[in-house]
Amino acid sequence: MTISTFDELFMNMLRDVYQAEKQHVKALPKMARNTVHPELREAMEQHLEETEAQVERLEQIFDMLGSKPKGQKCEAVEGLLEEAQEIMDEVDEEVVRDAGVIAAAQALEHYEIARYGTLVAWARRMGERDIMRLLQQSLREEHNANHILNELAEEAINAEAQEMREEEGGEIEEDEDEMERPARGNGGRRMQQMAQERSSGGRRSGSRSGRGRSKEPSDLERRAYKDKQGNVHYHTRAYMRQRGGG
Ligand code: ZN
Ligand code: FE
Ligand code: FE
Ligand code: FE
Repeated sequence: MTISTFDELFMNMLRDVYQAEKQHVKALPKMARNTVHPELREAMEQHLEETEAQVERLEQIFDMLGSKPKGQKCEAVEGLLEEAQEIMDEVDEEVVRDAGVIAAAQALEHYEIARYGTLVAWARRMGERDIMRLLQQSLREEHNANHILNELAEEAINAEAQEMREEEGGEIEEDEDEMERPARGNGGRRMQQMAQERSSGGRRSGSRSGRGRSKEPSDLERRAYKDKQGNVHYHTRAYMRQRGGG
């Protein structure tokens, strides 16, 4: 179809996002099933519900424009979902896979943020205030979904994934004085072994991993727990605040 007017361009973009959201609805349950961190799973299931509502919101917008809801192949989301699938297939360590699934999920959220941002601006320009508000609501949800994924990665899952590497005997090159060190001790036997290796004259003698320090648990240690499979996880700070009733 040839596009000449701004209205047609808007409709074209609407169809792209409509298709993208429908593909997202199909993919999210599978992505959730491929994660182990309980809060990550919960976040993905919650975003699935939001995404279903976003599909309906778009159908409402088509209706307001007197047009039938119609999708149009979104190459970008197809490609991003292929990447997500690759990560799920190729990473064989559960907590490392969680970090990869977050990365894939955030790429999708960023695509949606870009699309809704554009559509909101175009609806505003066209004077379609009701449509603009509906699109703004979806835009807020995408921002929020991305924010939650960020917190999960930075406060919990990246550290879990990194500890898996240490346990496998991987080398850590950088001196991480500035960065939060993964928890010692709460990670179970393996973590304690590692801490012991270090304090008995390993190459990491400079690290502040607790030798001769106070037994005060670190922020990360206070948030540690194990799942039924024995994987070590960390709660996010938001989770701790909620549970602490504050
Ligand atoms: Zn986890
Ligand atoms: Fe969405
Ligand atoms: Fe697209
Ligand atoms: Fe989304």
